[in-house]
Amino acid sequence: MKIQTNYKISEETSFKCGGKASFYCEVEDIKEFCNLVKFHSGKLYVLGNGTKTLFSDNGFDGLVISTKKLKGMRFYSEEADGEEKLLLECECGVRFDDMHIFCAEKELGGLEFCAGIPASVGGAVIMNAGAFGDEIGSYVEKVEVFQDGSLKILHKNEISFSYRKSSLKNYFITKVWFVVAKSKKNVIINKQQLYLQKRFSSQPQGFANAGSVFKRSEGVVPAEIIDKLGLKGLREGGAMVSEKHAGFIVNTGNATASDIARLIDKIKTKVFAETGIVLEEELILVD
Ligand SMILES: Cc1cc2nc3c(=O)[nH]c(=O)nc-3n(C[C@H](O)[C@H](O)[C@H](O)COP(=O)(O)OP(=O)(O)OC[C@H]3O[C@@H](n4cnc5c(N)ncnc54)[C@H](O)[C@@H]3O)c2cc1C
Repeated sequence: MKIQTNYKISEETSFKCGGKASFYCEVEDIKEFCNLVKFHSGKLYVLGNGTKTLFSDNGFDGLVISTKKLKGMRFYSEEADGEEKLLLECECGVRFDDMHIFCAEKELGGLEFCAGIPASVGGAVIMNAGAFGDEIGSYVEKVEVFQDGSLKILHKNEISFSYRKSSLKNYFITKVWFVVAKSKKNVIINKQQLYLQKRFSSQPQGFANAGSVFKRSEGVVPAEIIDKLGLKGLREGGAMVSEKHAGFIVNTGNATASDIARLIDKIKTKVFAETGIVLEEELILVD
């Protein structure tokens, strides 16, 4: 196990900013992941693909465990709830991009809607990532978690999912099983391409970002409100409200985490002043 000190964490997040982590480790397998969690005392942050995480410029005075090397995947049929189910088993660090390639090759359908979400499996399930009216939580059959010193399986009826939220927030996820369906390679690839095109036509390209910054809530679509208030292009240092999608903040090249945090505050203040709505961050700010 290699633990690095004073590690520049910005490279590990999609926003490409933030300070240094006192300790950083890319665990090689699930056993190592569990042992580190078990024996580390002090601040701990599990990093999946870092696409919803913003570390402060002051860094993180603790241990960051990256799951990026936990990439095992397989599929099989299993009898569950009195029916034969086709299950895709993924270690928590599997990137969605790799999962989509695997699904196309093995002709496993159902998860195409999340093509283009740059998540790891662990991060996606914790956040109940979703797109185009569908959510990853709907496909979870069971999850393996490390809790109180041992690995446990939580079945779907023991987990709750809601908009960009799950009851798994305080767990360490090691593996997830998704229910998939037999399909055809060309059908899967075509669906994935369709969703990717929709995404590319509406989301900023070429700038570091972390997707939608604010959560939707009943009747509140933050991007629409921010757009209506004319805040596209609003800046704080190197951080800017995307000209293409008002729900995104982009790093125009030299943004600091403080620039992004200040811009978030500015947007929230303006939105509250004009509409009385309190926007809530979907982005995870870590310090
Ligand atoms: C261009 C772009 C487009 C996006 N589009 C979408 C979209 O359409 N829909 C959507 O929902 N999101 C979208 N996102 C946001 C992001 O990809 C999702 O929120 C995703 O679920 C985050 O996964 P991650 O692995 O990167 O999480 P991270 O940022 O690494 O972590 C997120 C949270 O999960 C925790 N975590 C990660 N792995 C584990 C684990 N194994 N055990 C315990 N805790 C863990 C972290 O501690 C943190 O609390 C987008 C982001 C970008 C940059």
